Amino acid sequence: MNHENSARLHEKALDCIVGGVNSPSRSFKAVGGGAPVAMERAQGAYFWDVDGNRYIDYLAAYGPIITGHAHPHITKAIVRAAENGTLYGTPTPWEVQFAEMIREAIPSMEKIRFNNSGTEAVMTCIRVARAYTNRIKIIKFAGCYHGHSDLVLVAAGSGPSTLGIPDSAGIPQSIANEVITVPFNDIDAYADAIKKWGSEVAGVLVEPIVGNFGIVEPKPGFLEEVNRLTHEAGALVIYDEVITGFRFCYGGAQNLLGVTPDLTALGKIIGGCLPIGAYGGRKDIMEQVAPLGPAYQAGTMAGNPASIQAGIACLEVLKQPGVYEELDRLGAILEDGIRSAAAKHGVPIQLNRVKGALAVYFTDKEVVNYDDAQTADSETFGRFFRLMLEEGICLAPSKYEAWFITTAHTEADVRETLAAVDRSFAALAST
Ligand code: PMP
Repeated sequence: MNHENSARLHEKALDCIVGGVNSPSRSFKAVGGGAPVAMERAQGAYFWDVDGNRYIDYLAAYGPIITGHAHPHITKAIVRAAENGTLYGTPTPWEVQFAEMIREAIPSMEKIRFNNSGTEAVMTCIRVARAYTNRIKIIKFAGCYHGHSDLVLVAAGSGPSTLGIPDSAGIPQSIANEVITVPFNDIDAYADAIKKWGSEVAGVLVEPIVGNFGIVEPKPGFLEEVNRLTHEAGALVIYDEVITGFRFCYGGAQNLLGVTPDLTALGKIIGGCLPIGAYGGRKDIMEQVAPLGPAYQAGTMAGNPASIQAGIACLEVLKQPGVYEELDRLGAILEDGIRSAAAKHGVPIQLNRVKGALAVYFTDKEVVNYDDAQTADSETFGRFFRLMLEEGICLAPSKYEAWFITTAHTEADVRETLAAVDRSFAALAST
């Protein structure tokens, strides 16, 4: 495959955009470096790069894309919004309709606020939890990404449950000190953290199904016990459903798993591929937010008619019968095929899948937490990523990202992908 135009574009981009990318995860740093492939057109399950190469897309823009690119129903809604003005700075009928739709799908979100990104949604959940509890500390799980606000860009130190160390320059240690990090799926570590700091904890941030070191399901009873221990300590449970919201069913992972948080953050899918975030939860907690309460949150672009109407159209598509069943069916075919190819070529992998999202780890260790995910071999992933790219299959350039199937993917796309996986695993096995 020829990537000359991508390479040329990257040279120019390096000169005017920091690192040549607008989000670090788009760089090819984690897969051996070089120019990332630049795309210029997308339709359904495919996109085309600036050299005219076609790819089947499993990146799905890191999660928002579930109806495929440029879905006609969503496109129509965006065009309609554009023709009628995309920003009013006033209440609109669509934001009320959309809030009602989301509350119907995720009943724990009794009251909702829209904003512009997952980062904002999570950041504000933390502020609201702090305002409500009058406490400062936050617990999060190691390896889970919750956006780039100061508070959540904090990594675990060594040891089972630790106060944080900043994951980025520019974050004061005093802020990192307010974040406690524990391993996912380890209820004893969580109980220890609650025992030690429980009376100071405002809330726990949970991805109910982890989507940021592959795909990792909670062990049976884990989330229920987290809820119980957190509430016993007088703290709030905050679900970050920025990836999981509307990904596995019409609603949140909370619907699928039968667990209920106090607050929920959404983003990605609910914007119908335009920028959005939303947070919501129990009425008495949400009433902390201005203008009703003392916790301030605002936004010029919040609830803009374009994102909201794209989001409504997206949920209308997802509400059709059979959507999630088909994503699950294709996911199962992909899973079976990848497992068979790995066995055939003797490539050790772990594969975690929930419905239409899956993760392939090049390790023989079962992956239930971040430490396990880190055992996946980076070099093998880098080679696999490039082999697949040359086959016209676009994955995220990181061993920690999931593959996402959309409603635009067909069984033929999945079969084409599996043929590419087979050849790529053969190439990995032969060296
Ligand atoms: N939470 C989770 C679980 C995410 O995966 C992400 C983005 N990958 C965010 C929050 C931040 O969302 P955004 O990039 O829209 O700010």
